[in-house]
Parts: sequence; structure tokens; C-alpha cells
Amino acid sequence: MKTAHLSLGSNLGNRLGYLQKAVDLLDKHPDIKICKISSIYETVAWGLKEQDDFYNLVLEIKTTLPPKDLLQICQKIESELERTRDIHWGPRTIDIDILLYEKIEMEEECLTIPHKYLLERPFVTIPLAEITADLIVKGCNISLIAKTHKKMNEKCLKLPYEIKNNSLSSKNT
Ligand code: ADP
Ligand code: MG
Repeated sequence: MKTAHLSLGSNLGNRLGYLQKAVDLLDKHPDIKICKISSIYETVAWGLKEQDDFYNLVLEIKTTLPPKDLLQICQKIESELERTRDIHWGPRTIDIDILLYEKIEMEEECLTIPHKYLLERPFVTIPLAEITADLIVKGCNISLIAKTHKKMNEKCLKLPYEIKNNSLSSKNT
């Protein structure tokens, strides 16, 4: 089994519901096992600013699928959850990106690993740092980058919800 990290985001419709469904569908896949789930964060849209806030989380998974097959499964789940691709970086019910896959480095248009913008996106570095300790990506310590991102004060709010044992619950109950 190989270890990979995925970023999930939603800013259209029932954002918590789409995150939950995407986690369920990934976990149901026979070749994917979810090991860690970050908190859910409410974050300001990145790239194309004029749209609703996102809900984001990061997963650590174990998988027997090679990177391109994993991407195909992620895209299949996006389609099942009514993801359309009208506007680049526009509103979406669900976005599933591969952040890391073992120590693999590849740069193709259809798949770049580590993810091209991993170190630039607070909504990725902050949840990723939460579930990994001392992870080094492209020579950078992810916890340090996350700390810098937190200081920038761009909206990245930890929400009082968590997905545990594949069901959504409120952290305060
Ligand atoms: P974005 O995730 O940048 O908002 P999309 O989800 O529409 O945009 O993805 C655009 C393309 O990026 C996809 O067709 C996919 O092939 C490609 N891509 C390249 N690297 C990755 C990656 N690490 N994870 C997911 N998609 C990727
Ligand atoms: Mg994507």
C-alpha cells in the first residue's frame, strides 16, 4: 500500500454534505483506505476571488492504485457529485486534488505531484500540517509554511464539525 494525501474542497450547495459524500465514496473504493482526516476549514476562494467561501479538508489515504488511476477515481467521484467544469477555478460542488503520493515527483499536464500550488494555498498547508508531522515538501517544512499562512490572516477558520468513522458530527456534542 502506498501513502497519498488528497485535498477536498466545496463551495456550491451543501458543502458539508458534498465533503461527507466524497469521503464516503473514496472510503468505499476497494483500493483506497482513509487513514487520517483533518478538521474542516472555511476558507476564502483562491485564484478567482469573486465566489462563495469554500469548505476544505485534507485526507491521508493508503492505496494500491498508481497515481494516474487514483486521479481517475477522484475525477469519477467529482462527476458523481455533480461537479461541472464551466469556469476555471470557479464554484464547484467538489474538487478532489492529489497533493502528494509517496515521494513521487512528476510533472505532466494531467497530473503534477506534488500538487503545483500546494505550498501557496493556506487551505491546503494548514489542514495538511494538522495531520502530518514534520512533513517536508520541495525542501520546505509544511508546518512552518502553515504557520506563516496562519499569520497572514487570510480566512481559514477551523469549523466545529468533524468527519469521524465516515460520518459527520459536531465537535461540541
Ligand atoms: P483545480 O483543481 O486547479 O481547481 P481542476 O480540478 O479543474 O482545477 O483540475 C484541472 C486539471 O488539473 C485536471 O484535469 C487534472 O488533470 C489536472 N491536475 C494536474 N495535477 C493534478 C493533481 N495533482 N491533482 C488533481 N488534478 C491535477
Ligand atoms: Mg482539482
